[in-house]
Amino acid sequence: MASIPNELTGPRVYVAVDDKKSAKMHLTGGFHKPERDKAMCGTSIEGKTLVDARDIAPHSEYQDSDLWCIRCIGILDFEPLDQKILFSAIKFQPGTYGDLVVVRHLQRPSKLKTHPFRLTNAPPRKDWRIVK
Ligand SMILES: [Zn+2]
Repeated sequence: MASIPNELTGPRVYVAVDDKKSAKMHLTGGFHKPERDKAMCGTSIEGKTLVDARDIAPHSEYQDSDLWCIRCIGILDFEPLDQKILFSAIKFQPGTYGDLVVVRHLQRPSKLKTHPFRLTNAPPRKDWRIVK
């Protein structure tokens, strides 16, 4: 998998939503799909609306993991913490995404003292706003 330029802060992740309630929600943006032409998993997102993850992921009606594309959620692992943390409330069988991924990430520096967080420069300013 692609290396992470910055594991704490990174370009925004967007959620591709569909009018059809049955469709799984995919993710795009971030380091993985900066051009936002497809979902992170490679699925076409044509005709879907891209929503800032902060607007959708934490809401109670979006916390069921069945609503989400599991492949995209898997790839989210390789995005920086500030983006991952937005998905913390999504509930999986063994625990929330926060329990499974975010908490472990936060514990890592105390458990693995030789592996501190890598904090590099913030992403370019152009990545702070969506330009379509
Ligand atoms: Zn997907």
